[in-house]
Amino acid sequence: MDESKPGSVHAWLRSGEFLFGALLFAAAIAALVLATSLSGVTQVPWRHAVFFLAFGVFTISIGYSHPVFGYVSFDRLAQVSSILVLGPVDAAWINGLASLLYPWHRLRQGVPLRAVCNAALTNAGLMALAILIAGMLYVEVGGPVPLAGLDPATFGAIVLLLVALQFINEGGIVALVRVRGQSSRDALSLFDTIIELMAGLAAILLAVVWTRMEMEVFLLLLAVLAALMLALKRYAEIRLKLERLVEDRTAALREKTLQLEQLAAHDQLTGLHNRRHADEFLQREFEHADRPGAALAIALADIDNFKEINDSRSHSVGDRVLERVGRIFRERTRKCDLVARYGGEEFLFAFVGMNELDAARLQDLRLAVESEDWPAVSPGLRVTMSIGLAIHREAPGVPALLRLADARLYRAKQLGRNCVVAELAVD
Ligand code: GH3
Ligand code: MG
Ligand code: MG
Repeated sequence: MDESKPGSVHAWLRSGEFLFGALLFAAAIAALVLATSLSGVTQVPWRHAVFFLAFGVFTISIGYSHPVFGYVSFDRLAQVSSILVLGPVDAAWINGLASLLYPWHRLRQGVPLRAVCNAALTNAGLMALAILIAGMLYVEVGGPVPLAGLDPATFGAIVLLLVALQFINEGGIVALVRVRGQSSRDALSLFDTIIELMAGLAAILLAVVWTRMEMEVFLLLLAVLAALMLALKRYAEIRLKLERLVEDRTAALREKTLQLEQLAAHDQLTGLHNRRHADEFLQREFEHADRPGAALAIALADIDNFKEINDSRSHSVGDRVLERVGRIFRERTRKCDLVARYGGEEFLFAFVGMNELDAARLQDLRLAVESEDWPAVSPGLRVTMSIGLAIHREAPGVPALLRLADARLYRAKQLGRNCVVAELAVD
């Protein structure tokens, strides 16, 4: 997309992701203004507000890149502790602002302005709404603000707060992933949920220590938590790297397996199927050959006097003859037919659905070999082949069918080579 074209700005403004973010942001602002007018202007000292704003930005920054979410952070810690210390309305303003401010540094990393705008609006909107709704639910069920201790009823209210936050947040992420057109199946992982809940629990501890105003203990706790967050971030990054590595290795292995399968079923010189593959194919097709339309005809083709070509010219000329013959066969047979290099200079054809002994088709192949421009391979070179044909109805099984085709090939050699034999001569 070209950023300088006004049309593309329109396209961005109409994109699902922008609309989603703008809608969330507008809803959050409306809800915050309404809640503020109902609860009255905040009494929170500005130093506390600045601390929680800075803490919010810090916890967002201690995050890690995730292939689906983009960015997962430990911001739950700042959100929950600020709800428990300041109450839902102030916490929603402060953390919403932290989420709105945070993404802009990515501009310097080369992230496009539109992506940053989308992220700022979506994160701020979702964050403020989640904190406001979950926090008001907490207050509604009797959760104390500021939190000074933990009795069973308070603990219940906090669990409700954590679950509600998690629920709203994940709902928002699932919706965002859908808007982006990604599959939501891999959007939520147990690992990330556990991290968020753990951050929530740590927030309770932080809030209680804050409220009791034991500043040294609070700072100590903050330092321990910050170290823990950094360690977790590192662990999460390593874990992601490992996952990617496993994915890459699995893909490489799959590719290698395909190559090996290809190698195991093909002849290297001619690129045709090999004898092993041909035998499996024949066995499979022979079993179905009595079904209508599935009749099976096989042909064994052998290059005439090939030893002489090898002896009088060279082995490498012999190899090039084999390659060319392979190419002629590939080009002149259908995808559903089988062509295999069955021995040194011997080839096997299997025609599925060929009901009558259709020698004409084999005559075409024989003629194609005969009329190839062989002098281009080696001056004065002539290559012909003899073919023996058999049809599945003539034999009780694959070995007998192959013997029959081989006997007819032998007969073709006896008749002077460069011919097709479809029936054994009755002596
Ligand atoms: P006929 O017309 O009766 O089939 O005579 P022929 O000379 O073709 O038959 P013979 O079986 O005596 O010789 C086959 C030769 O094919 C012998 C072998 O050296 C050669 N050959 C087998 N595999 C290869 C290969 O991969 N490359 C080359 N250049 N020669 C091969
Ligand atoms: Mg031969
Ligand atoms: Mg031979």
